[in-house]
Amino acid sequence: MLSYRHSFHAGNFADVLKHIVLVETIAHLQQKPKAFDYIDTHSGAGLYNLASADAGKLSEHEGGIGKLSRKQLPELKRYFDLIEQCQQSSKVRFYPGSPMFAKLMLRQHDKAWLTELHPQDFKHLSNNMGKTRQIRISQEDGLKRLKAVLPPQSRRALVLIDPSYEIKSEYQQVFDAIAYGHKKFATGVYALWYPVVERERIDKLDQQFIDSGIRNIQRFELGIGPDSDEKGMTSSGMYVVNPPWKLFATMEALLPKLAQYIGEGDSQYFKCEQLVAE
Ligand code: SAM
Repeated sequence: MLSYRHSFHAGNFADVLKHIVLVETIAHLQQKPKAFDYIDTHSGAGLYNLASADAGKLSEHEGGIGKLSRKQLPELKRYFDLIEQCQQSSKVRFYPGSPMFAKLMLRQHDKAWLTELHPQDFKHLSNNMGKTRQIRISQEDGLKRLKAVLPPQSRRALVLIDPSYEIKSEYQQVFDAIAYGHKKFATGVYALWYPVVERERIDKLDQQFIDSGIRNIQRFELGIGPDSDEKGMTSSGMYVVNPPWKLFATMEALLPKLAQYIGEGDSQYFKCEQLVAE
């Protein structure tokens, strides 16, 4: 069952949080000259046209990237610069997906491993990434691929796990993948995105992480308002295992501002916490 297409959701408030954490994490990793590997288990199409029929159906980007500007958030210069690199004119019409943000940031000696299962999105991803020896793209199960790729040769890696959670068992699968990955490669940075639709599912994930014995886990959430049983996804979050030094301080300063712009009506919602100590 692969009915989820990210083209309907690109640039929404969940993408904004996910991609800001992604860009900040890669930037921190690049402060050291040594190469690193970027492993993206659920890559999507890589680039999205916000003027397409898919994007226009729900216009979710209007509640995400559409609410932010360089002027309000000069500290997000790097994020806005990368988005700008994807435009063909001065208007923001295209929004990059996680593999494109990473591709634009990779140095010559860094590598990327991308997986996308949906045949159409795999095709788009391959076209959008172009042919380069630095980037390996495969159409297979991303979590299986992750097992095969770890530990990377470079011994430095960022793993992004960003499923659609179409199947409820994915909540367990993503936790198992990180627990397994951490056993094989304990120093990797693992970033996991999750939607807050039913808070109980996230509470359960929290508890699994807390009980896992894995140290140093941070969590960042951003949304349109507080949890609600009636509204669908009100916020989304990222767990980051082995976060780079300074990521917390960066997000702690950013999230209250982002929440101010992303919030609906008078509501503002964000969370920034160290879930498990170092
Ligand atoms: N990470 C992307 C980004 O930030 O631009 C968005 C990814 S989207 C939320 C999830 C993607 O995972 C979809 O394109 C879907 O087709 C793909 N997918 C679903 N199951 C998968 C699996 N088992 N392995 C790899 N990709 C899968």
